[in-house]
Amino acid sequence: MTADEEIGQAGGNAPTAAGGRAEAEALAGVVADGARPVGAALEADVLIVGAGPAGLFAAYYAGFRGLKAAIMDSLPEPGGQVTAMYPEKMIFDVGGFPSVRGRDLVDALVAQAAPFQPHYLLGHQATELAHVEDAVLVTSSQGVHVRAKAVIITGGLGTFTPRPLPTGSEYLGHGLAYFVPKLDDYAGMDVLIVGGGDSAFDWAQSLEPLSRSVTVVHRRKGFRAHEHTVSNVLASSVKVLVDSQVAEVSGSGQVEAVEILHTPTGERQRLDIQRIVAALGFTADLGPLTHWGLNIQRRQIVVETTMATGVERVFAAGDITEYPGKVRLIATGFGEAATAVNNAAPVINPGAHVFPGHSSNVS
Ligand SMILES: Cc1cc2nc3c(=O)[nH]c(=O)nc-3n(C[C@H](O)[C@H](O)[C@H](O)COP(=O)(O)OP(=O)(O)OC[C@H]3O[C@@H](n4cnc5c(N)ncnc54)[C@H](O)[C@@H]3O)c2cc1C
Repeated sequence: MTADEEIGQAGGNAPTAAGGRAEAEALAGVVADGARPVGAALEADVLIVGAGPAGLFAAYYAGFRGLKAAIMDSLPEPGGQVTAMYPEKMIFDVGGFPSVRGRDLVDALVAQAAPFQPHYLLGHQATELAHVEDAVLVTSSQGVHVRAKAVIITGGLGTFTPRPLPTGSEYLGHGLAYFVPKLDDYAGMDVLIVGGGDSAFDWAQSLEPLSRSVTVVHRRKGFRAHEHTVSNVLASSVKVLVDSQVAEVSGSGQVEAVEILHTPTGERQRLDIQRIVAALGFTADLGPLTHWGLNIQRRQIVVETTMATGVERVFAAGDITEYPGKVRLIATGFGEAATAVNNAAPVINPGAHVFPGHSSNVS
C-alpha cells in the first residue's frame, strides 16, 4: 500500500520514543525460548503491537482489567495513521466527540491509558514471535524481548516507511524530519515543506502562524491536497514554489540552507532555512507479521468474533483484522480492542471472566 502522505507526529503529552534495550533489560529477568537462552526480557501480561487508536484503547482496557501492558510501535510516536497522516484534521465520527482534532484524540487516548502506566516501546518493530511454556516471546527490531501471556496485534496497515528526500538524508534528525514533532518546535524557524499532498499543505497551514517563514516546494504544478486547504495556504504568507525540487541541503551539522532547482528553466535559488519537513508519502507493509503463522488474507489477519487469530495467545484488533462485514474505522477498532482484551483476560488469568464489569462502577 502506498499513500501520498507524510508520517507526522503527535505532540502534547504523548509519550516519546523510549524503552530502549538497556531499559528493557533492566526491567526483567532472563527467560528461555525452550532450551535456547534468549537474554533479558520485559515481562508483561499483554503485549500490544501497534500504538494506533486501537492499540492505545487496548492499553487502557488492559489496565482496566488489571493487566500489565507493554505497547510496541515501529514509529517514534503513538497514534498510528492519525498521527502519521492527518494529525491536524478534524474527525467527526468518533462516539462522544462531535468533532475532534486528530492529535487531540491521540493525546486523549494516551491520557486515558496513562493511569495504568503501559510500558511504551516506541521505535521498536515487532519482528519475531515464539511460544515459550505458558507465554509468548516477541522480539523487537532493536533486540528487546517481551515475554507476555498474550499478544494483541493492532498493526493497522503495517509498518510505515517514509519516502526519503532524494538528497540531504544525512540531516535526518538535524533539521530534516519525516515526522513533524510538536508544532512548538518550529516556532520562529524558517521552514521548508517538500510535497504537494494533504500533509504538506496541512503542515504549511498549521506552521504558518508560528514559524518565521514557511515555503512549500513541489515538483509539479498541480497539488493533490484538498482544494480548500490549498486556497487557504495560497492566500497566506506561505511561499509556494512549483515545478521545483530540493537540489542540495547544506549546513554544518544542522540544516542551514537549501538550493532549490526550478526544473523547467534550470534556475537555482538558495533559501536560508533551519527546518525541512519532507512530506513525500510513505509505504506500509505487514513485514515480519507475515511470518507469524497468522491467517492473512489481502494484507489483513482473519479473526474470530473473539478477535482470536487462531495462533495460540495471539489476538488482533483494529484495521488489521478481517471478517465478513468488517468496517475499517476508529470506532470499530475501539470495539474490537475491548473485545480482544476481554477475551485475552481468561487466557492470561484462567478463571477471569470475559465480561469486565462496568467502568462506571469503579470509583
Ligand atoms: C487520511 C485519513 C483519514 C481518515 N479519517 C478517518 C475518520 O474520519 N474516521 C475514522 O473512523 N477513520 C478514519 N481513518 C481511518 C483510521 O485512521 C483507521 O481506521 C485507524 O487509524 C486504525 O487504527 P489502528 O489502531 O487499527 O491502526 P493504525 O492507526 O494503522 O496503527 C497501527 C500501528 O501499528 C504499527 N505497527 C504495524 N506493524 C507493526 C510491527 N510489526 N511492530 C510495531 N508496530 C507496528 C504502525 O506503525 C502503526 O502505528 C482515516 C484514515 C486516513 C488515512
